[in-house]
Amino acid sequence: MKEFNLIKKFFTEQVTNRKDVILSIGDDCALIAPAERQHIAVTTDTLVCGVHFPVDTPPRAIGHKAIAVNLSDLAAMGAEPTWISLALTLPEFNNAWLTEFCAGLFELCEYYNIQLIGGDTTQGPLSITVTAQGLVPIDTPLLRSGAKTGDWIFVTGELGDAALALQDIQGKVSIETVFKEQIHTKLNYPKPRVLAGQSLREYASSAIDLSDGLISDLEHICLASGVGANLVLDALPLSTVLRDTLGVDKAIEVALAGGDDYELLFTVSEDNKVGMETALTNAGIPLTCIGQINTSDKITTTLNNKAVSINVKGFEHFSTNDEQ
Ligand code: ADP
Ligand code: MG
Repeated sequence: MKEFNLIKKFFTEQVTNRKDVILSIGDDCALIAPAERQHIAVTTDTLVCGVHFPVDTPPRAIGHKAIAVNLSDLAAMGAEPTWISLALTLPEFNNAWLTEFCAGLFELCEYYNIQLIGGDTTQGPLSITVTAQGLVPIDTPLLRSGAKTGDWIFVTGELGDAALALQDIQGKVSIETVFKEQIHTKLNYPKPRVLAGQSLREYASSAIDLSDGLISDLEHICLASGVGANLVLDALPLSTVLRDTLGVDKAIEVALAGGDDYELLFTVSEDNKVGMETALTNAGIPLTCIGQINTSDKITTTLNNKAVSINVKGFEHFSTNDEQ
């Protein structure tokens, strides 16, 4: 199939038809009408086969995840997702694969009223790059840099299940059969916290989405904000399956270092805490207070009210030996 026909067959027809898209797929560029009093938030994420998802991941999950990881970044800025572009590199033309991939991709787009407005299609090792854009009111973006001493640290959902699924695929653990699907769904079909992010604009002092692991991502907030933090390890939200499969100690390690959670990690002042809890709980978003920001320049951890040291790091793509 020619590239033109492939684009027409799989990407041109879609349910979402936004009024602010003046010109969509088909010309050299898409045209979008700028929105008043809103910033446009822009983010890009690439998924490389074998690096960001296991080789035998179902194509529907790959389509879902390519969108979800980008929506998670928009959520962390408090933005409402609006438009995406898709740069797709495929080893070969495969009708069944593309049909499933598109089903996963468009399902999320339809749910959030996001329009695919363009992209690029090339041949090569499987890799998917999505650029997602969203709108955020000009005076209330959520940044990593706003955390203040005394702020409470919160996280949505539960941590570590996606990392557990990865360990299962690698044959390092064995999950009870009845729980396998639930855990693998966390890895393959992450649910970006889009609504939580928008609600947090009013309350949170800083936010980040958890892609590389809690410790690593909390470090980003601390560095950007010039603060330190203490995490209460007993408070970490761990699923029953994670605890039962690994035991509490290992479960905590995985929750701290495992990637791919796509939950939101955010800070909130004492004054905004109750308002935030009410707003998010009413919206059905599970959340847990896991620590507090302080004046130190590091991240400390406590367990049973005692200081403990941790020796875990989140996921890093480039590890170097020359860091002295
Ligand atoms: P150009 O050579 O000008 O880059 P292309 O032939 O690559 O144009 O693309 C033609 C049109 O199809 C463009 O509007 C482009 O944005 C769109 N397009 C190409 N690939 C994709 C894709 N994977 N998903 C969505 N739109 C695509
Ligand atoms: Mg092109």
